[in-house]
Amino acid sequence: MKKIILITIILLMGQNFANAHTCENETVKCPIDGQNVTFCVTMSMTTFGSFKDFQQQGAIGEHYEGLINTCPKCHFSGYIDDFKTELTGEEKIKINEYLTKFDDTKIDDAKQCLIAGEIKELQKKSNKEIAFCYVTGSYLLRNNDKQVEFRKEFQSKAKDNLISALDKNEYEDKSVIANINYLIAEMERRIGNFDEAIKHYDLAISDSNKKDWVEKIAKEQKELAIKQDEDNKI
Ligand SMILES: [Zn+2]
Repeated sequence: MKKIILITIILLMGQNFANAHTCENETVKCPIDGQNVTFCVTMSMTTFGSFKDFQQQGAIGEHYEGLINTCPKCHFSGYIDDFKTELTGEEKIKINEYLTKFDDTKIDDAKQCLIAGEIKELQKKSNKEIAFCYVTGSYLLRNNDKQVEFRKEFQSKAKDNLISALDKNEYEDKSVIANINYLIAEMERRIGNFDEAIKHYDLAISDSNKKDWVEKIAKEQKELAIKQDEDNKI
């Protein structure tokens, strides 16, 4: 009897977990060729904390996979809002030219993040916006042991753009700067640039505008960098 109750509880919990992430389909048109592209837009999810690189954990289903999508015909990729934004003639030409290199490539969720980020680079969008496409790509490859180099390419591009975003004062809220230095440090550590990682952990730790939680976690993660530990699963 006890066993049956336990199994029932586990089954019910499983159901709750599965239901905690909900998304609704929304179809938009590709701004390049008018093809229909369907996004499943997250309506609700339950998070239980986050990984050390800010990826949220919990019953989040395909939340990160669903953020960025791609046109099945031309491979234009971006957030749903990118599909709703009209492009200038000049932008269309540039993006079309860039996309031809993916003509014969299979576009998976991670590739979509790369294309979305590179299109935003062509459009000279803000570095913080570009960085987030690459950070998302790295989340999707967290546990993928076959694409470690691709994951590190994302993290390298992410930290380059985050550094530029700080240089250009893209963050108006000064209390966020320590978070960004911490995230740069995490990206550097995960690609094995330990000296650079330590430099950015220190910038986060010594930032007088930092939020309370930053110091403890930055000090903990700095210890890993000192030990030259590039663990990406955490
Ligand atoms: Zn298209």
